Amino acid sequence: MKHSGLRKPLVLSALCTAMFFPAASALAVTDKEILDDVNSTNQIVTNGMGLQGQRYSTLDILNTDNIKDLRPVWAMSFGGEKQRGQQAQPMIKDGVMYVTASYSRVFAVDARTGKELWQYDARLPDDIRPCCDVINRGVALYGDLVIFGTLDAKLVALNKDTGKVVWRKSVADHKAGYSITAAPLVINGKLITGVSGGEFGVVGKIEAYDPKNGELLWTRPTVEGHMGYVYKDGKAVENGISGGEAGKTWPGDLWKTGGAAPWLGGLYDPETNLLLFGTGNPAPWNSHLRPGDNLYSSSRLALNPDDGTIKWHFQTTPHDGWDFDGVNEVVSFNYQEGGKTIKAAATADRNGFFYVLDRTNGKFIRGFPFVDKITWAKGLDKNGRPIYDEANRPGAPGGETKGSSVFAAPAFLGAKNWMPMAYSQDTGLFYVPSNEWGMDIWNEGIAYKKGAAYLGAGFTIRPLNEDYIGVLRAIDPKTGKEVWRHKNFAPLWGGVMTTKGNLVFTGTPEGFLQAFNAKTGDKVWEFQTGSGVLGSPVTWEMDGEQYVSVLSGWGGAVPLWGGEVAKRVKNFNQGGMLWTFKLPKDLVAKR
Ligand code: CA
Repeated sequence: MKHSGLRKPLVLSALCTAMFFPAASALAVTDKEILDDVNSTNQIVTNGMGLQGQRYSTLDILNTDNIKDLRPVWAMSFGGEKQRGQQAQPMIKDGVMYVTASYSRVFAVDARTGKELWQYDARLPDDIRPCCDVINRGVALYGDLVIFGTLDAKLVALNKDTGKVVWRKSVADHKAGYSITAAPLVINGKLITGVSGGEFGVVGKIEAYDPKNGELLWTRPTVEGHMGYVYKDGKAVENGISGGEAGKTWPGDLWKTGGAAPWLGGLYDPETNLLLFGTGNPAPWNSHLRPGDNLYSSSRLALNPDDGTIKWHFQTTPHDGWDFDGVNEVVSFNYQEGGKTIKAAATADRNGFFYVLDRTNGKFIRGFPFVDKITWAKGLDKNGRPIYDEANRPGAPGGETKGSSVFAAPAFLGAKNWMPMAYSQDTGLFYVPSNEWGMDIWNEGIAYKKGAAYLGAGFTIRPLNEDYIGVLRAIDPKTGKEVWRHKNFAPLWGGVMTTKGNLVFTGTPEGFLQAFNAKTGDKVWEFQTGSGVLGSPVTWEMDGEQYVSVLSGWGGAVPLWGGEVAKRVKNFNQGGMLWTFKLPKDLVAKR
């Protein structure tokens, strides 16, 4: 349904809702609804508010003129003793909200009242190996199912009305370090998932399952040398898809434990029929053990959704030595240049560079720094490959001694980490949650041991400035120009959303959900949620009113890995709340 604003009679709308959409029994989600999610404002059935990942809403009931009156309608606690980082994006279908919470939990909630409809707790074994907090980034909705990945690397499909398990499938061995934290993606009848575990020397892979029953359809390892397969009736089909040559970009047997985990999942571009995924660091971190480009680590991959064939790849950090995972979201957008429509994709990398690619073929269009300090590279060449400053690569260890330490910026937690940026179709700008920090990093000897951390490196992460780490930036993808910035004391770790109401939303570890004027960067609203906001905000229309929801709950990677930075955030309180906001009805009616 297209945005109908306030012109729609509220009474009729409420009546229709009561007649056709009883709150506790939402309708099934179809492939068409998923493909059309970018155009619908009354539901959210994709992560990214549209498969393209722009996180842009055409709603403008709420705008820069009236946002001062935005206030909470309800809040719900996830409860229990499991209050850790909350990083999911809510999904909304027919008045029911579906979210995940820390420790692999799923909640269905009445979106009008905040009343819990059901809760599912995955029974996790004691020996799970999450690298970076016990977080989860959300569900996929398909048919009558709510599907998500667990910290012990399983996919679980729940009945949307009861929360009862319909099927459960093991994707990988959690004892080897695999887990799942990303939201799965459903496209054209296929459920697509990545895996986490790059810090344990796993072999990254992207896989497609039948969402109805969990049957494996294809598998695509993301370390060069491993074969991909299509499955029929549970058997690998003869025409297995080549995984490239073993040992070509990896020395010896290191490709067997090469990492490159696509832990953030991916997006889909309907215009080119391509899955767009990113891959994590090569394992181990100590780059001197693995001369070569180490494909397809720290890369962006475009895959054929029918069989997992890699159609193109773009490696942001070949031969990575700084844990610059290349997983960050690849957002599809079109722009006009020289009288032509450019089918572009944008991605803001951990390594500090913002890339604009031709998404039809992966060719580099342009790239530029989006943080103030980059030490490890002098720039990008004409193909987008970094020009290394070899003096700034951490040195090789010798026997029992550690290698020479270097100061590197950005820090391994990235100029931007997992938290998704947003793209406004009105301003043509990307709104990028970034961080200004660096690290002392050195290499050490390491041998692979199943299920053990496989880094071969040590580090201390440090702020670059006294008064801020986080910077929300508005960036013009055609010029690389920073149009505005807003600084934040703590590192930003939450997703961004933008709307036709000229608004940009994001959260802070200090607990605020904030809104900015999309054109000027002026802060126009904020609300204290009680704990750090790491979730991705969403907005939708219900009964003729515009709602905003976000998760609150501090945790994630920063307090666990953060060195000097962890000291800066040590007094932040944990939590686990789901907040929903709208304008008071009488104020809107008077408008
Ligand atoms: Ca990593």
